Amino acid sequence: MSEKVKTPLGEETVLTPEELNKKIDERQKQDWINYKKQIDGTFKCLECGSTIMSATIAHPIWDGPFAMSGGGQVFDEEMSYCPKCDKKPNFHGSPVAPEGSYHNPLIRRKK
Ligand SMILES: [Zn+2]
Repeated sequence: MSEKVKTPLGEETVLTPEELNKKIDERQKQDWINYKKQIDGTFKCLECGSTIMSATIAHPIWDGPFAMSGGGQVFDEEMSYCPKCDKKPNFHGSPVAPEGSYHNPLIRRKK
């Protein structure tokens, strides 16, 4: 799906929970390739040896019946990144639309 909507803050890509889970899965697989676990439990970047940092990305949950509406809930995603090789993740995550909400209706709207 990955519906694109225009908001006052710019264009957003609305994800379904399934799409978000898939993205997280894929990135975690990538982390195991790019980062090496240390004896102390931290991870190091295989590219530059930096200690991997973690950031929280907040995904607003748009579960309301109107465009861009929701009860104010947020899904916090933990994301790891290398402070040298990666750019710091954007704290502002893509909105997530659970099934049955305006952006993820049970019955598809006619195009
Ligand atoms: Zn690195």
